[in-house]
This record gives sequence, C-alpha cells and structure tokens, in this order.
Amino acid sequence: MAQEKKTEAALLKEKLLVKKQSGIRKLNREEIEKADKFCKGYVEFLDSSKTEREAVTYTIKAAENAGFTEYDRTKSYKPGDRVYVNNRNKALMLCVIGKQGTKNGVKLGIAHIDSPRLDLKPNPLYESSDLALFKTHYYGGIKKYQWTAVPLALHGVVALKDGTVRDVYIGDDESDPCFVVTDLLPHLANEQMTQTMVKAFNGEHLNVLIGSRPFNEDEESESVKLNIMNILFEKYGITEADFISADLTMVPAAKARDVGFDRSMIGAYGHDDKVCAYPAVMAAIDVKDPEQTVISVLTDREEIGSDGNTGMKSSYLADFIADLAEADGVKLRHVMEKSTCLSADVNAAFDPTYASAYEANNACYINGGAVITKYTGSGGKYSTSDASAEFMAKVRRILDDADVLWQTGELGKVDGGGGGTIAKFIANLNADVVDLGVPVLSMHAPFEIVSKTDVYETYRALLEFYSINN
Ligand code: MN
Ligand code: MN
Repeated sequence: MAQEKKTEAALLKEKLLVKKQSGIRKLNREEIEKADKFCKGYVEFLDSSKTEREAVTYTIKAAENAGFTEYDRTKSYKPGDRVYVNNRNKALMLCVIGKQGTKNGVKLGIAHIDSPRLDLKPNPLYESSDLALFKTHYYGGIKKYQWTAVPLALHGVVALKDGTVRDVYIGDDESDPCFVVTDLLPHLANEQMTQTMVKAFNGEHLNVLIGSRPFNEDEESESVKLNIMNILFEKYGITEADFISADLTMVPAAKARDVGFDRSMIGAYGHDDKVCAYPAVMAAIDVKDPEQTVISVLTDREEIGSDGNTGMKSSYLADFIADLAEADGVKLRHVMEKSTCLSADVNAAFDPTYASAYEANNACYINGGAVITKYTGSGGKYSTSDASAEFMAKVRRILDDADVLWQTGELGKVDGGGGGTIAKFIANLNADVVDLGVPVLSMHAPFEIVSKTDVYETYRALLEFYSINN
C-alpha cells in the first residue's frame, strides 16, 4: 500500500499551527444523536423557565428527583451528599460535597437565569381611548422594536399584604389570551422610518395592549380598565394596589422550536443564559464522587449588572462557601484562593449577515462547540477579569483530554460595543475564572438561536471540569 508522503511544510504545519476548526465535522453520528437527546431535556426546561423564579422552581424539582435535599447549616454532610440552597426563589445553588471537601478549593459553574424582558411598572394599568394597557419598564439590553407586534405572555407573582403570594402565568397555553405591544403601520410611519432606532422606539412606547371592552354600559369613565381589574380580581384575587408588590413581567409567548430543515438548532426566548444554566444543572446532577466540592449556581440580575441580593454581586455564594468551609475547619479565604470557576455564559456567534460586527479570526461559530471567552468588557478590556494564561492552559488541557469540542471567542470586533458576564465578580473573590458557554445568534432577541451540539458540548465541558481533580 502506498502511504501518502507528507511534505515538510505539511509536517511543520501540523506541529506548529492551530488546525482550522472543523467544528461539528469532528463529531460522529452517535455524539450528534446524544446532543439531540440532551436538548430534548433542555427544551423542556426552557419552556418551563421563562423567568428566574420559574427556573428555580423547575430545577428544585429536578434536583430533588436526583437526590438533592435543602441545605441545613446545622447538619453535617459527607462526601457525595447533594444539597441545594434556594435564595429567595430567584437564585439557586446545587452542591455536591467532594471527597476533599472545600480545603483544596471548590469547583464552580455559574450561569444566570434572568433574561431580557418587559417588566410591569409599579402602577402599570391605565386606560386610553377605550383601550386598557400596561406600562412597562424594560429589563436588560433589548432592541425595542423587536418587542412590538409579537405575542407576549404575563409571568410572575403578586404578593398580597397578608403574606400570600399569587402566581401569574397567562399567555403561553394556546387556549390562553396573549398580549401585545402595538406598532405603527408602515403607511403612516414616514416620520418614524426616518428616525434613528433609538428615537423611533423609546421605552415609553413599550405599552402592552391588554383589553378593549368596558365593564358595562354605565357612563363611568375608565370602565375598560375597571373590567380588566375585575377579571384580574376574579382570577387572582388582586386589586390595583397589589401591583405595587408584584414581580410581573411580559415575556414572548412562543415556545422553543427546532430551527432548520436539519433540525440542528433551537430557536427560543431566553437561551441567554438558560442554555448554560441547564448544562450546569445537569453536570451537578450527573457528576460522580467529585474530589473537590462542586457548586452549580443559577444566579439572577445578570442582565442588569448583577446588583441586588439575588445577583452575583451579593454575598450569597461566598456566604454558602463560608458555611461549607467552616464545617471543614478551613477559612473561606483559603478556599477561595484555590477555587476555580467556569462562568457559564453565552457569546455572540458569528453571523454572516452582519459579518462586519465581528472579527472572523476571534469570533465563535455555531456548531464550533463550547466557546471559551478569555475576557469580555469594552473600551480596551475595561471592566473584565481576563483569565490568566495559566488558568486558560488548565481549561484547555481538561477539555482536550476529554475530547470536548470547543473554540475561543471574543464578543465582536474591538470597539464594536461590548458586554460583560459574572466572571469578574468571581475573580474579585480571588478565584480563577473564565467564561465558557454556548454561541448564540440573535442574542437578546425574543427568539434566539443556538446549536444543539454546542449545548451538549457545554454540558460535557462542565461535567469534565467538575469530575477532574484540580
Ligand atoms: Mn448572559
Ligand atoms: Mn445577556
């Protein structure tokens, strides 16, 4: 048999240059099937978790089914024990106690479960021209025009003065009514169409249409509003004043769908960052007897800067690790300096239609696998932690040894904009951290796109990171 002889250049290339990413071509049929199967579970999670509260409720159930119990700091735990901590029904930590406990650091995988949306204002309900509407205040970075003329659902809770909390969930079932932000018809939009996007769609335009029939034929004013309040009272037992103590939000009413003739992708609301939260949950559930204690964190408030008691600037994670450390007879600061973290968040997948926003050599690609983002930030690496060379080397080794499909990615071209993740807040706790997650097309749109194999490879990356000793 004639063996093809490689040229000197070919041999040197093999030794010295990065092989052009072949992405999904590296995966065999069996692996792709595993990814498709894994994503069935993901879609179920996604459709049940449009808000952070729903994600927490769903995950607690899944975790309890997998043997996790609520953490009790007065109890002692042994290696292999599985516990969860629920922070105000809006953030959650799943923890598997390691054989070495916390003394050699903990392994963290942190994703966020809040997504951009339209929150109701504290006084949302009004009537104008015989239509009833809700005033909203958008949450997170959105292109406002994308939220007009699409069906919306109302999710959240209303807390009453007597302490009871009413769940609100309306608009997702096909038999439910839905809601909508209206837009101006093109025929009359001459002025709007010549404005910049920021001016044409401002925050006070994002009013949601919720009704149009008056209560009865009495000549009372605001009887359309009255009729809506009457419906809400009958359904939820709430009055107008109760909106003041509510977390109510408008989210896209659509369910997740396969995208493409080949069904290779998933389109849905809220991939950012449920697409990393689900792999983090499953990695915590699936990890077997880890050496170091493992904690998957589903955090809140990321889309608005991580402030607040359920966000990553809060001390809730460090406080929990401190409790674990105390039980092990070690100090929190000595645990943190040895701890490592994958900040599981998404990156912007290269979009050929908007190629000029990216720098092709450093962008991440759909089907390229889990994306490692060394730094985020903007304006000359401002406001980012930037993972060290040494930690990057460690993560590369872990992923390569396990044959995880991965790529690197920068968030767009230099000075094209920017963004951040929770990585820097973990770095500020004196741990090593890097972003690793799923590439997303149309990020922050009501319908975002991810690849099924990228979701699965992100899960594999997290599981491998948790499983390996340091
Ligand atoms: Mn994110
Ligand atoms: Mn985001």
